[in-house]
Parts: sequence; C-alpha cells; structure tokens
Amino acid sequence: MSGFVFSEKPIAIESGEGVTLTATDGTEYLDFGASYACTPVGHCHPDVVEATTQQVQELMYVQASYPNAARTALYEQLADVAPGDVDNVWLCNSGTEANEAALKFARAATGREKIVATTQGFHGRTMGALAATWKNKYKEPYEPLAGGVEFVPYGDGEQLREAVDEQTAAVILEPVQGEGGINPAPTEYLQVAREATDEAGAALVMDEIQTGLGRTGSMWACQHHDVVPDILTTAKGLGSGLPIGATLVRDWIAESHGDHGSTFSGNPVTCAAAGATLDVIESEDLPARASERGDYLRAELDAALGDEVRDVRGQGLLVGVEVKRGANRHLKRLALNHQVLALPAGRTVLRLLPPLVVDESHVDRVVDAVTEVVTG
Ligand SMILES: *Cc1c(COP(=O)(O)O)cnc(C)c1O
Repeated sequence: MSGFVFSEKPIAIESGEGVTLTATDGTEYLDFGASYACTPVGHCHPDVVEATTQQVQELMYVQASYPNAARTALYEQLADVAPGDVDNVWLCNSGTEANEAALKFARAATGREKIVATTQGFHGRTMGALAATWKNKYKEPYEPLAGGVEFVPYGDGEQLREAVDEQTAAVILEPVQGEGGINPAPTEYLQVAREATDEAGAALVMDEIQTGLGRTGSMWACQHHDVVPDILTTAKGLGSGLPIGATLVRDWIAESHGDHGSTFSGNPVTCAAAGATLDVIESEDLPARASERGDYLRAELDAALGDEVRDVRGQGLLVGVEVKRGANRHLKRLALNHQVLALPAGRTVLRLLPPLVVDESHVDRVVDAVTEVVTG
C-alpha cells in the first residue's frame, strides 16, 4: 500500500525549525519553498506550537454554530487585517474551498452565472475552482467541470473590460500569479478590474492564497495597488501548515450568500494556529522583512546570474527565476547537491518563496547554490 497522487522525493523529512527542515538521516535542508508556502513564520514557531497545543488540550472540535473563543478571536483578527471593508469571514479548510466559496457567494449575491478568469491563473483543484484554473492538464481528465467560466489574457485590461458585462458574477485573479510563473500584475490592470466590476455590478475576487499574509511586502498584495476587492481568499500559510482557509467578503456579498456550510469550518485548533500565526506576522513585522529580504534576494540573483537566465522577477519573497531550459533538473540538483528545497512555477521557472523569517545568510547561501546549478 502506498499513496499514489504525489510522486515522493527521496528525502524523508522528520522535523523542522524556522527555515530549516531536517531529514531522517540528519541532513539539514533550507526550505526555500516554505513547504508549498505554508510556513510564513517558519516551521514550528514556538508561539504557534504553544497556542495550538493549548487548544488541543482544551477542545479539539465544536461545530461552528456554537461560538468559541479561538474562532471568535480569529474572526476579529482577520477583520482587523483585511483590506478596506472586506471584513466578513467564512472559514474553511483549504485554498480551493476558499475559492469555491468565493465563486458560490458571488453567484448568489449577484444572481448571475458568468465567471471571468485569467490565462495562467491557478485557483485550486475542486470542480469549481478548477474550472477557473487555466492549465488544461489539470482539467481534462476530470471534465465536465463547473460551467460559465470565460478566460481573458492576464494583464490585458482592455480584454478584461470587454469580457465583464451584466451577466458577470465575478472576476477572479491573483495579484501575482504563483503557479502560472510568478507574474506580478501592473497596478493599472488591477484598477481596470476594479472599475469594470464596479460598473457591471460584479464581484472582484482576489485570490491571495499564495500572495497574502505578508509575502509580497504588505499584508495583502492588493494593498500595493490601492485596490480593494469584494472578496479576498487566503489559505496556505494561514495555519502554519494546519489546514485552514478563509473567504473574506464585503457586506453586500455577506448579506445574500445563499446556503453554504462545512463541518470543519472554524475548528478551534486550526483557528488557534491561525490566530497565533497572524500575531507573529504582525509582532515580527514580517511584511517589512519580506519586502527588504525580497529586494535583496532579487538584486543578488540579478547580479549573480545576469544573462545566464531569461528573467528574475517577483514581489517581496515571492520570486521567480526563469531559466533557459527545464526547471526540474535545476531543482533536483539544488536539493541533492546543495540542500536547498525550492519549487517550480510551470516548466521553466524556479520559484523561491522562503518563510518570511529568512535572514541574509540564508539568502546568500541560496543565491550561491542557484548560481552554481544554473551556470554549472
Ligand atoms: C495553492 C493555491 C490554491 C489552492 O490551494 P489548496 O489549499 O491547495 O486547495 C489556490 N490559489 C492559489 C493562488 C494557490 O497558490
């Protein structure tokens, strides 16, 4: 018997602390993928461990229809850090569920069907969120998916404006595309998305599942552009690796959201982990750190790699290095020869998104390793 969906790598991980993961043979790895972006405050941050352990001992589960202090506190914390008035909170267990809820809420609140999504966009693997995801290889074996999705080229304001009409329930996009290759959206594009949805009475959904929680240098990437969405989704790092996602919505969405639900919504243990994670992001000023270390990482990569790569791009600590040939070969050598774990973003982009607690010496080590595998 064995798992069959993920192809496992030959490194068995036993423990983690901060930016470091330790394998069963004692080898230490720098986790520059933050384990699928799930550890913004680092692995096993003591505050998160403590809050979670306490909650496990007190109460592991109560249904969300009974108030619980850990859940109530998280509702308040999320409302506090939310951009603008996107402060009504729905809690779920993953990113795809947060987007699934976003699309359902937008349809219920507008009474419309059409969803406008973007080329290269990634929103998750369940039938609805997958329908709004671009790559055919993720979709084809599972069709038919949810209907009513129209794709427009990411970054093209004019075509977005044309696609959004009186039938449109929502536009869904990432302020920096992660999976699609680390593509930051220009401010004007996001402003056009805001104007077009406002004019049509449609909901603007920002998928901040990868970009949120300080990673790009502010709590949410949309805040760099002064664009407030109607719905914002977050997950990945929210629970420091425990499964929790959230869909934050403005009042007009919350007021007519239909009939949604989930058994594990607002589980006290994941809420305690998320509350402590948000506390650490704020108390350690991690968005500022991501901004500063991200600038340093990109500058050092640029200086070291020059013409050896096609591009170094990103925002904060969400960084892509577009290489000339396949990325996977480089990733394997980074892991096995240099003990640096990173991720791909499509076929030719190395994705570097370390925990936001990295220091300069980690960055220096990784820049040396990347330079060696790319030029070697
Ligand atoms: C990872 C990701 C998702 C899906 O999250 P899951 O928790 O894997 O379901 C959705 N959108 C973006 C932008 C992501 O990076």
